[in-house]
Amino acid sequence: MRVVVIGGGAIGSAVALFLKRLGGAAVEVVVVEPDPGLARSSSALSAGSIRQQFSNPINVRMSQFGHEVIGNADTWLGVDGAPVDLGFVPGAYLFCATAAGVPVLQANHAAQRAAGADVALLAPAEAAARFPWLNTADLALTSLGGSGEGWFDGHSFARALAAKARSLGARWQRGQVVALDRAGERLHAARLDDGTRLDADAFVNAAGPWAGAVGRLAGLPVPVHARRRTVFVMRCPTPLPTLPLVCDPSGVWFRSEGPQFIGGWSPGEGDDDPDDLPLDQPDLAQFEDRVWPAMAHRVPAFEALRMQRAWAGYYEVHPLDHNALIGPHPACPNLLLCNGFSGHGLQHAPGAGRGIAEWLLHGAWQTLDLLAFSPQRLLSGQPFVERAII
Ligand SMILES: Cc1cc2nc3c(=O)[nH]c(=O)nc-3n(C[C@H](O)[C@H](O)[C@H](O)COP(=O)(O)OP(=O)(O)OC[C@H]3O[C@@H](n4cnc5c(N)ncnc54)[C@H](O)[C@@H]3O)c2cc1C
Repeated sequence: MRVVVIGGGAIGSAVALFLKRLGGAAVEVVVVEPDPGLARSSSALSAGSIRQQFSNPINVRMSQFGHEVIGNADTWLGVDGAPVDLGFVPGAYLFCATAAGVPVLQANHAAQRAAGADVALLAPAEAAARFPWLNTADLALTSLGGSGEGWFDGHSFARALAAKARSLGARWQRGQVVALDRAGERLHAARLDDGTRLDADAFVNAAGPWAGAVGRLAGLPVPVHARRRTVFVMRCPTPLPTLPLVCDPSGVWFRSEGPQFIGGWSPGEGDDDPDDLPLDQPDLAQFEDRVWPAMAHRVPAFEALRMQRAWAGYYEVHPLDHNALIGPHPACPNLLLCNGFSGHGLQHAPGAGRGIAEWLLHGAWQTLDLLAFSPQRLLSGQPFVERAII
């Protein structure tokens, strides 16, 4: 079997790795990627964090496998016994809810526990005792990860997945897919910007925020949107201990990053969130308007916060339900989608990559049942909603 993977970020690299790991010599894998440095790729511009706290058990299980791979990188990603440094720092997420958010936090907690996640609900007084720097005055409940969470370097992770895939025999081809040849329900070839034609039995759309554009090359809808997210790097002169990744009810998140802090804001329902805003222009006004006020409210020591720099990357958003599309396109079964992960595609890359490999090699999900992510939702319009989106 010959497979062309379009995009060599974390997702495309994970697909290639698991195709070779599970398929061996029986599968020929070519990954097409225009930018070996991944300068604009979400995988390199992400906040590189992993959590168990989702609203759907399958997303918890995807993260559990992600944690297995990231936490044991030497075993999963080592090449010729060389150690793999992803900069992984075990940490925790702290989700904070006002009274209005309590039912959702409780429902999420039940789903997480059912999937075996190590999480605990803390009343505001318990959270205040544990985290004296936290303002709990307006909080009604918090949820804290016990294990299986933390942060790591996304760029290193994508590169390590790619290096391992290459060591198993996957081939990287530098270039951009500019056309896809389709006859009826089947794709036959990808054409690159340098004129190369790659024939294959199956094609995987792993183009992250550009997944919609790749779908259009084949005349197929892939409703994934590139939505800019700005990450701020901050310093606080007031001494603080290492902070967990705090998810504030305002939509602002922040965590320690060594001696500094990083944080940002995700638009909620009804907030303006245009497509394709330029990546070289982080939204600096957001710091004054959204991020700093919320951080200083939640952690009074952050009154003294200093913003040092900012960067922007694209979330790859599937607006129907903020859940990924994983599996064959309903109008073209040999185009596999692995797209629309919003802000959690790095940690789900191993689970998604393994799933796509299983589907292509065995025609069925094997280790994790990924049916709920089926792109059949494009036809049915039936959402599979993930509520714990950051
Ligand atoms: C600010 C920010 C914070 C985030 N925080 C987290 C987090 O804490 N935890 C987490 O798990 N996830 C997080 N994410 C999400 C995560 O980074 C993404 O879901 C994940 O990196 C997507 O990987 P990908 O390989 O699909 O996309 P990408 O890394 O963008 O790779 C897609 C690749 O496709 C290539 N490509 C595009 N078009 C073509 C074409 N026509 N031909 C060939 N190649 C093409 C591109 O060059 C690109 O390299 C965050 C994202 C952002 C932006």
